[in-house]
Amino acid sequence: MDLYSGHINKLIEELSNLPGIGEKSASRLAFHLINMPKAKVERLANTIISAKEHVQYCKECYTLTDQELCPICVNEKRDHSTIMVLENTRDLAAYEKTGKYEGVYHVLHGAISPMIGVGPNDIKLKELLQRLQGDVKEVIIATNSSLEGETTAMYISKLIKPTGVKVTRIASGVPVGGDLEYIDEVTLLRALEGRIEL
Ligand code: ZN
Repeated sequence: MDLYSGHINKLIEELSNLPGIGEKSASRLAFHLINMPKAKVERLANTIISAKEHVQYCKECYTLTDQELCPICVNEKRDHSTIMVLENTRDLAAYEKTGKYEGVYHVLHGAISPMIGVGPNDIKLKELLQRLQGDVKEVIIATNSSLEGETTAMYISKLIKPTGVKVTRIASGVPVGGDLEYIDEVTLLRALEGRIEL
């Protein structure tokens, strides 16, 4: 027997497909949405659609942005010869929050994971290599310290080394398996300052 209406069931199902939302949270959110004034629900729905329609990859670093180039890539005060390689835009935000990193970024949108069939061609690696044809002095690999992150770091360093560009890896002050976005700023900075050449 269906406890709720079909519409509520559908809403709960859609919400529980989102990352980090279990069945319980999904039904709590669903009932909250149903009880919200219609105008507020419309605003939320429109915000989601408009973000989806307007957000795109930066042409240079592949972070998510509203413009062709993100504010970091257009900033001439940033050091464009130092590129920090990250798994996702959330990790970029974590480093950017420290306010101490002056280089630019490259967002891979994932990490190599043979287990789930993610290969080098499934992340923005080719795009990184293309950028190295410009004036690049150092590539700092700041992928997570998970198995996938380490695999990706090794793969990238092997690719880049023959080009003569310096490749470094952030120090392992970052806990093993830790997602960069959950790590405090002091630890992030220490990991950056203690980076080692590969
Ligand atoms: Zn950019």
